Amino acid sequence: MALIWNRGIDWDEEDWREEAACRNADLEFFFPIGVTGIAIDQIDAAKRVCQMCDAVEPCLEFALATNQESGVWGGTSEEERRKLRKSWLAARRQTLLLQKEHTKQSL
Ligand code: SF4
Repeated sequence: MALIWNRGIDWDEEDWREEAACRNADLEFFFPIGVTGIAIDQIDAAKRVCQMCDAVEPCLEFALATNQESGVWGGTSEEERRKLRKSWLAARRQTLLLQKEHTKQSL
């Protein structure tokens, strides 16, 4: 599936990374190797950090929009994001279509 990149989004506009609770966390937890064994505990530890993060929404949005396949982003695992991404893309397409229609009607 091709990545749809919307250049109209300025991800650093609000600089959500400044709010990231993981800025000083052990990145090993956020990018575990595999999804079994000790990786399960690392993913859970990363998700606990995400639960306290003020940037969880823009982080997840960024991860979905840029198709971040590895690691924990926005409180979601790789598998959870794969499932979320289909519905996110459908909603995004719908929003873009509505914006396009609105622009046409305004002209
Ligand atoms: S939601 Fe999680 S991965 Fe994203 S910035 Fe916050 S702590 Fe980091």
